[in-house]
Formats: sequence, structure tokens, C-alpha cells
Amino acid sequence: MKCPFCGADDTQVIDSRVNDEGDTIRRRRRCSACEKRFTTYEVAELHMPQVVKQNGTREEFSRDKLRLSFTRALHKRPVPTEYVDQAIEHIEQKVLAQGEREIPSRQLGEAVMQELKRLDKVAYIRFASIYRSFQDVDDFHEAIRDLGKQRRRSTDPD
Ligand SMILES: [Zn+2]
Repeated sequence: MKCPFCGADDTQVIDSRVNDEGDTIRRRRRCSACEKRFTTYEVAELHMPQVVKQNGTREEFSRDKLRLSFTRALHKRPVPTEYVDQAIEHIEQKVLAQGEREIPSRQLGEAVMQELKRLDKVAYIRFASIYRSFQDVDDFHEAIRDLGKQRRRSTDPD
């Protein structure tokens, strides 16, 4: 790394340490030419990917849009906002963990459905019926069938 004082190419790392949170590395450097010292920080660069829509256009990942899907599906349902926040957080983390530069919007829709399934069955059906109607009616039937299976599983003693 170049020296910010004299522009020399030759600088040495004399100390490097990770911060308490473990997400930043701080390095002390010394310029071999002018002997001045400076500090650099290294952090992971995390970008939300672009969302590729069904028609092939791209748009920025939007937390607000994600929230809107939840708000619409959960309209008048007894689900605390805190849970919705967690669900959104969860989706964002999954998306980041993939490390892709682009993701299909369909994948986000599926992720919302997964979270809704956990949060509120009525909202899940509501969202699934709207979301999946754009694709395949069979998918919606499948969604209802899966739900039926789950309900049986949870009410059956065995
Ligand atoms: Zn220098």
C-alpha cells in the first residue's frame, strides 16, 4: 500500500489487530521512505444483490418492498412487528450468505413464504395465493395441501 504522505510504494505493516466484534482488522503501517506511520482498516464488503424480476429487469434489493409483502399478507393478523423484523433480518442474512451479485425475485418470494409459514398460517395462504397465482395454479394447491399435512401432523397425537 502506498504511503499517504510521500507516495512511496514501500510501506510495512508493523501491527495488526482484530477489533472486539471481530469484524474489522486494524493495521498500523510504516513508510520505509519517510518513516511516517498510518492506520488502515479492513472490513468485509457486504452488498445486497440486485433482484432480477420475472421479465428480466433488475432492481435494487429493497427492505421496504420485503416489508410490504409481510404487511400485506399479515393485514389484521395477530403477529407482532418484532417478529416481522426478525423474519426480514433472516431473509437478508440468507441472501447475503449466498454472496451472489444477483438473485431471482422468485427466490425472495419463496423466502417470504417460508417465513410466513412459520409466523401465521392464514397470512401464508393469503400471500401464497396471490404470489403463486402469477405462476402456476398447481403451486397454490400444493401450498394448501402442504398446510393440511402440517396441520394433521401437529394435531395428531402421533
Ligand atoms: Zn512515506
